[in-house]
Amino acid sequence: MIIAVDGPAASGKGTLARRLASHFGFHYLDTGSLYRAVALAVLKQGAVPADAKAAEIAAASLILPDRDDPALRSEAVSAAASMVAAFPQVRAHVLEYQRKFAATPPGAVLDGRDIGTVVCPQADVKLFVTAKPEVRACRRLLERQAQGEQLDYDELLADIRARDARDMNRAIAPLKPATDARLLDTSDLDIETAFQAALRLIEGS
Ligand code: C5P
Repeated sequence: MIIAVDGPAASGKGTLARRLASHFGFHYLDTGSLYRAVALAVLKQGAVPADAKAAEIAAASLILPDRDDPALRSEAVSAAASMVAAFPQVRAHVLEYQRKFAATPPGAVLDGRDIGTVVCPQADVKLFVTAKPEVRACRRLLERQAQGEQLDYDELLADIRARDARDMNRAIAPLKPATDARLLDTSDLDIETAFQAALRLIEGS
């Protein structure tokens, strides 16, 4: 059993996917953390995220990152992740890893941008989670404030919009709902309501 959860940054897909995995007793993979790990490795070696060769080498030696590592979550790594994610060679390495993970019994929930369209087009359930950019920027701001960081709302909104545009317009595996995905807009939903709505969509799939 595979549940694919796709959507843009800060749409709530990660929280939702993690809860679904624990509800069903499935494995969970935050696929964004793989691209973040590649980006972080590139930056750590002093290369720029636009350096395709450095990104490919980092992707080839990718090991499962600790998704709670704060270094992976910085805004610089977020932006760099969406740059390295546009390289086909990087995606090829990450794709292999994700498909192996998805095949782990008894089931898996993967969240990302292209799970329902490219990584697991055969997924049993596909959710596409969205929220208005302003709501997403606000969530990110509050999340960072809770961690003691002070960020500027307008800058966060601009970063989110730039990342959406890069992710939606790239030539390979762009962010878009699979034709058979169920859409869930979390703009006006809290975590619990979004989770209950997702369960209803899954039961109806
Ligand atoms: O989900 P998260 O915000 O952590 O993802 C970071 C970046 O990784 C995204 O902006 C996107 O460019 C890339 N990504 C991707 N495909 C996925 C997951 C993430 O291209 N399946």
